[in-house]
Amino acid sequence: MKVRIDNDLCAGFGICVGICPEVFELHDDGYASVLVSEVPPELEELVRRAADQCPARAIFVTED
Ligand code: SF4
Repeated sequence: MKVRIDNDLCAGFGICVGICPEVFELHDDGYASVLVSEVPPELEELVRRAADQCPARAIFVTED
């Protein structure tokens, strides 16, 4: 599974970081980015949950 954030859509709520800090990080400017593009299997469920709950729908998951 791959994950990316569309920086044009991210509104910086940080919900993704709260759900899965192993994959998402919040920068000083308030916007998030991904720490890994290839998601470890044990974190896939959390990444899907973060994508579902992102208020800006800025997280895009690609299943292998
Ligand atoms: S939850 Fe969505 S809008 Fe909020 S920081 Fe993460 S990617 Fe950005």
